[in-house]
Amino acid sequence: MDKKVKVVPCSGIGKVYGLMAREAVLKTVMELCPEKSETVCLAWIVTGDKEVKEKIEGFDCITVDGCPKMCASKNVSISGGIVIEEIKVLETVKEHKGKKFGSPIQLDADGEAVVSEIAEKIAKKIEEIY
Ligand code: SF4
Repeated sequence: MDKKVKVVPCSGIGKVYGLMAREAVLKTVMELCPEKSETVCLAWIVTGDKEVKEKIEGFDCITVDGCPKMCASKNVSISGGIVIEEIKVLETVKEHKGKKFGSPIQLDADGEAVVSEIAEKIAKKIEEIY
């Protein structure tokens, strides 16, 4: 059985915090924890497609959201995923007041640094789950 933790970012198109959510998830699943985690496209989850439901339902999931709407967390739950941890980009951003993170299409150095910080938090949680 596939035990990989599903790490799902919100879409967040047009917002730098959405880009940070997606980048943090990619860093986690591709660089930090490729053997223990994988991501699933939120837009696919939202369709309710049978194949994606089978990937999510009953599995441990970590969601990463770029704003209080919490689209990733809500939709993973609706699909039957077990949301073990809700990562909120804004919580980490708040610890870096006054910094510029970049634009919705390109992160600055501070944005990259915060992405790494969020990715480390996700990776730590994945290790705890394992
Ligand atoms: S959580 Fe916020 S930033 Fe992310 S997809 Fe939803 S509305 Fe967009």
